[in-house]
Amino acid sequence: MEALKLEVEQLEKRDNLQQSIEDVQKTIDMLVNARNTISADPKAAPITLAKLQTPVKHSFDRVNDDLKKIHSGLNSYSKALNKKFKDKPLPTAENDALSSHPSLMNRAIAMHLLREGQFSVASTFIEEANAHPPHPEPTPGTPNPYIQEAWEKDLANGTFNSEKLQQQFAEMYHILHELKQQKNLAPAIAWARERSGVLETRGSNLEFELCRLQFVCLFTGRDFQGNMVNPSEGPLRALSYARSEFGPFQNRYAREVQQLVGAILYWQNIGESPYRRHFINESAWDEVANSFTREFCSLLGLSADSPLYIAATAGAIALPTLLKLQNIMKEKRTEWTTQNELPVEIPLPPSYHFHSIFVCPVSKEQGTDQNPPMMMPCGHVIAQESLDKLSKGARFKCPYCPGESHPRDARKVFL
Ligand SMILES: [Zn+2]
Repeated sequence: MEALKLEVEQLEKRDNLQQSIEDVQKTIDMLVNARNTISADPKAAPITLAKLQTPVKHSFDRVNDDLKKIHSGLNSYSKALNKKFKDKPLPTAENDALSSHPSLMNRAIAMHLLREGQFSVASTFIEEANAHPPHPEPTPGTPNPYIQEAWEKDLANGTFNSEKLQQQFAEMYHILHELKQQKNLAPAIAWARERSGVLETRGSNLEFELCRLQFVCLFTGRDFQGNMVNPSEGPLRALSYARSEFGPFQNRYAREVQQLVGAILYWQNIGESPYRRHFINESAWDEVANSFTREFCSLLGLSADSPLYIAATAGAIALPTLLKLQNIMKEKRTEWTTQNELPVEIPLPPSYHFHSIFVCPVSKEQGTDQNPPMMMPCGHVIAQESLDKLSKGARFKCPYCPGESHPRDARKVFL
């Protein structure tokens, strides 16, 4: 990887188009000057043109020379690429599951761009995708993609109101900009306060986190817009803020509020006080910005990270294993037959674990939609098929405790 990095640095530093652009500009300047001379005095045309010939030829040669360097830079870069990824072919289209759902793919891309705040790119993309509707291609899983399922049509067209989403994300980015760049908490606090009830039902601490940071900001000498003002008056401003704003937090955050207000006693040496961690926390702004993004997206019914980004990252992690598997299957002439299930474990980072997996303690099989986990009244959980086998439709004893129950009393467990 180091060799690749070096090549990229080289391309950025030396083998870039800067010199060519300068030389092309010089040529343009020369031609423009000649045009001005001729238009000012048409009689000077023959001599001006004659004078131009050699310099123009030279300038073309120079531009060509400039490009040679770039070509050789690109060449050695592609060599380094080939060397690094020599035995790593791209996956074949055999397992393609995407070509039959191009409108869903377009929707995912547009959503991703909107979520990243790339509004103009997103609107151009949506415009072009609408102007040239994609043609679904048959894939092994969807051999006849023209019979679109109703849910897919709905998802691709009906629920996707890009203008509304754009407005919502524009609001999110405005608040985030104020928060991160301007250190101005006011818009975020106003947003959270308007949704106080919903946030509280979700068990979110966002509103308190924002107000706590506002308290800390005032304490350390900033005003409400995030500007640094007289620090010696900070503690008093923070105290008056706590008096007017912390009332609603008394029940849920009594201890934190006590600590914050108690810290005012240490205002001269807060760095050595037991409350240090509340006041000197480098990552506090990033933390509230992350909480805010998470809550904002949740209230829109979306996950905090772009699903396309997560899918692409998980795919990149899984790809080497899957390619290896494909090779093994080719050698052994076996086929991957289990639908909707990967034949190997793909280790993903913990933040990519979204669903718990249930493995039946009796059959050792993984739960599926057809064979879901069922909980018996005693609280033990086994798979539906195991339950059917053990009970045969009548009262039966739990395999893990003396509890007896009827299969109709068992309840499906959703993970
Ligand atoms: Zn039991």
